[in-house]
Amino acid sequence: MLLALSVLLLIFPATLSAPVRDGCTTGKNKLLLISFDGFRWDYDRDVDTPNLDKMAEEGVKAAYVTPPFLTITSPTHFTLLSGRYIENHGVIHNNWFNTSTQEKKQYYMTQFVDEYWDNGSLPIWITAQRQGKKTGSLHFPGTAATYQNETIQVKEVEPRFYDHTDETEWFKDQDLDFVTLYFGDPDSTGHKYGPDSPERREAVKKVDRTVGYIRETAEKHGLSDYLNIIITADHGMSTVFKGEDVKEIILNDIPGFSLKDLKFHMVDYGPFGLLLPKEGMLDKVYEALKGGHPNLHVYKKEDMPARLHYSKHPRILPIVLYADPGYVINGFYVFQTNKGEHGYDNEVMDMKPFFRAVGPDFHRNLFVGPFETVNVYPLMCHLLGIKPEINDGSLDNTRHMLISDGESCDSGDVRESSLQNVFNGLAAAAGFLLLVFVVVTSYNGYKRCKITPKAKDIGDEHEMKADSKQTSF
Ligand SMILES: [Zn+2]
Repeated sequence: MLLALSVLLLIFPATLSAPVRDGCTTGKNKLLLISFDGFRWDYDRDVDTPNLDKMAEEGVKAAYVTPPFLTITSPTHFTLLSGRYIENHGVIHNNWFNTSTQEKKQYYMTQFVDEYWDNGSLPIWITAQRQGKKTGSLHFPGTAATYQNETIQVKEVEPRFYDHTDETEWFKDQDLDFVTLYFGDPDSTGHKYGPDSPERREAVKKVDRTVGYIRETAEKHGLSDYLNIIITADHGMSTVFKGEDVKEIILNDIPGFSLKDLKFHMVDYGPFGLLLPKEGMLDKVYEALKGGHPNLHVYKKEDMPARLHYSKHPRILPIVLYADPGYVINGFYVFQTNKGEHGYDNEVMDMKPFFRAVGPDFHRNLFVGPFETVNVYPLMCHLLGIKPEINDGSLDNTRHMLISDGESCDSGDVRESSLQNVFNGLAAAAGFLLLVFVVVTSYNGYKRCKITPKAKDIGDEHEMKADSKQTSF
């Protein structure tokens, strides 16, 4: 096992314009977005988190945030990056699949399937670059893909077998306006040991140390006045029910249902499933499963509750399944061993991530109510001073966090911002530095390297070995 990256971030500001603490600050400061996978909203309640507490005192803390449904890693991260619900951005699962050839690619290999990510919604990296910003990304889902013939200017995709013991120098000699960082914990630990375990609490302590390290380093190099930091996650984690009293969901045991009636399926991926019945079998499959288990929700895609925003996209298969908290969906038999899972209804409190923000554009010591993570995108566009693409969020849901109340900048400010970008580029060429060192203290190889011998519906065994249980994301 063991994952827990620690990041040392050294950022030398290329341009030393004075920090502005009121009025229109749009685009004057740098932005760092950090995602700690699976960090549930309440994970700081049973662990001492001095660095996260300090960040809340000096910035903004939300009660929690609501991710989009489906509450799994790649789809929810792409919502953070695009401000679109999953049915609108099309990254509908962690895995790529082809229902004609039966081919499936696991989480890691899906990162390199450009057309899976690049299907109409631009992530903020590309939008920012087109408007003169320089962006970078470390390990964030979606980092590897090419979008409308553009890639992130400075990026590192997590290697498949990453030696996380070495110190890696990263982003050297770069002058970046916007950086995204991704950490695979506490998700991995939450899956393996459960969200209520001592191991999960240890993982949260590591997150806290990482946050402290990043902020101290930014402070040491005089960057705090020019750097906004947003820390959040993609989803939470819920304890999986175990034991003899638990009536497991096993589709093959439901009367009237047969896997033979399906052309293709995505089940055995935690509490969620997608089914493509064979020609003429849709109603039979639907009727058999509907009411087939008290904790199983079965919908034809067009009948999915509108609040879930998970029905419109053509990639979503005709029948959608999801389980109540604590349950997972099995095809033939129970082979999933995870003690924690996500992928449940996004209204379930266990699925809600945390949200913190600090920096020159944010109020200090402000506690705010919950909001949906589709709203993080317009907030980030505002902070960077860029024009957002069409999205499902609104700055109105986060502007109360900002010292400027999200006041719009007039076109004169935008022009000034563009000129400053030109200067930023020249400054970088002249040798100003923005350095990001990544120091890895330990890493949980669990989700990448653990072999799952019982996995039965994955065609590519080699890939399975590398990527392990798909539900770990
Ligand atoms: Zn995740």
